[in-house]
Amino acid sequence: MGSDLVIVYHRQPYEEVVENGKTVFRENKSPNGIVPTLKSFFGRVDNAAWVAWKEAEDVTNPDFDRVIEIEDSFGKYTVSRLPLTAADVKSFYHVTSKEAFWPILHGFKDKYNYDPVDWGTFRKVNQAFAEAAAAEAAKGASVWVHDYNLWLVPGYLRQMRPDLRISFFHHTPFPAADIFNVLPWRGEIVDSLLACDVVGFHIPRYASNFVSVVRSQYDVGDVPRVTVSDDFISEGSALSDRTQPVTIKTRDREVRLGVTPVGVDTDYIAEVTARDDTHKRAAEIREELGEAKLILSVGRTDYTKGGAEQLLTFERFLQKHEDMRDKVRLLHVSVPANRNMTVYAEIQDEIEQIAGRINGRFGTFNSNPVTLISRAIPFETLVAYYRVADVAWITPMADGMNLVCKEFAASRDDEDGVLILSEFAGAAIELGSAILTNPYSHKNMDHAIETALTMSPENRKSRMVELRRKVGIYNTARWAQDQLALLSPDDFGD
Ligand code: UDP
Repeated sequence: MGSDLVIVYHRQPYEEVVENGKTVFRENKSPNGIVPTLKSFFGRVDNAAWVAWKEAEDVTNPDFDRVIEIEDSFGKYTVSRLPLTAADVKSFYHVTSKEAFWPILHGFKDKYNYDPVDWGTFRKVNQAFAEAAAAEAAKGASVWVHDYNLWLVPGYLRQMRPDLRISFFHHTPFPAADIFNVLPWRGEIVDSLLACDVVGFHIPRYASNFVSVVRSQYDVGDVPRVTVSDDFISEGSALSDRTQPVTIKTRDREVRLGVTPVGVDTDYIAEVTARDDTHKRAAEIREELGEAKLILSVGRTDYTKGGAEQLLTFERFLQKHEDMRDKVRLLHVSVPANRNMTVYAEIQDEIEQIAGRINGRFGTFNSNPVTLISRAIPFETLVAYYRVADVAWITPMADGMNLVCKEFAASRDDEDGVLILSEFAGAAIELGSAILTNPYSHKNMDHAIETALTMSPENRKSRMVELRRKVGIYNTARWAQDQLALLSPDDFGD
């Protein structure tokens, strides 16, 4: 039997909690993030499975429930849980993926940490994921592997099951060759990706970068082992309807490069936006602000998200514009991740320190210019802040896509509010009517915040209308549709 679609993603698709001594699988209601987006496929494909890891003290324990059947509002599906020890999770995820791959993917060569990587464990875990996927997949099934921490899965899987259609999607940026090739395992990673039928990216630039990496590794001899159908993938082309995907021909197969920008669930956001509770909460926030304008910044506490750079910009702004000190407030939501990793603890300290200094310099007994929230806000509350914000300030140093900026636009059915967006967020390709800025430039950042706070209502409106139009096109439904089209055997024409 087996499943016709197998999704391989490292996290389980629900929250597993113990209630009254019994394990229950609670549906994660959060509308955001990759898990619900992927789960939406369960409603589209009858016979689907999910492969994820689950921590286990003893991976050989025969009582470990390896395969379970789940039924929730997304439908019925099988979950195959790969038992991993805490040491293996630390090695494959926290060390190799987060300390070596993550900085390289985001262009931070100086943060790349090679020494603690145990490549043997990374291989072992990826091979185990491939075995679990092979065990779930029906003959000729499509297997859809997600993100860089599973880079080696396609290679192993292809050896085990030549009959499968394998697709791999990158949720992060993909860097150019001179950055990617820093990784000593680059050849093995690229060979694995070239065992796929489809390799997916958010935007054309990441696909072009992948081509540059492939070329850098294969075009060195007299006889090129790979050929690429197109030299250049233009930024606009992949976002127009149904362009021909670029293909890479290897000796064994033709690999399609798909460009499909992930979006947000615009229907759900419209529904939350319309709720009485949301209106009530938004009115309360507005009242608390009084005459002050609200600048909103939301992101994980990660050096790639540019939180420290924003706070320093805000400090310069208040220093320069004495008259604005009580007229503008910054709400900085910085959600800590991986608390036990030094690099994240450092950025958290830096953000707290700058925020504290700004309030020390410019705050009064009644009001502080910066409110720092170092924990996650429930999505429904976040929508109320989106509704009230005069400016959403989203300026990552690098970001595969960035959904917060799209959620902001989707929440603004009043067609007001200004978005300042980093050029280095994947979303900038679609959202050109934001104020696009370079977070590496003080001048650019200073100018962006001044422009946003003084923009005319007409200009704000016309930009927001365009942002909403774009966010409405590439929503989650469209992403799912495009991905299925790339995966579908009929679409391969063979
Ligand atoms: N988010 C949230 N509460 C918070 C901060 C963020 O629910 O306090 C959600 C946000 O709505 C968005 C997601 O977390 O859907 C972050 O996704 P994004 O692509 O912007 O960044 P990532 O963390 O995936 O890099």
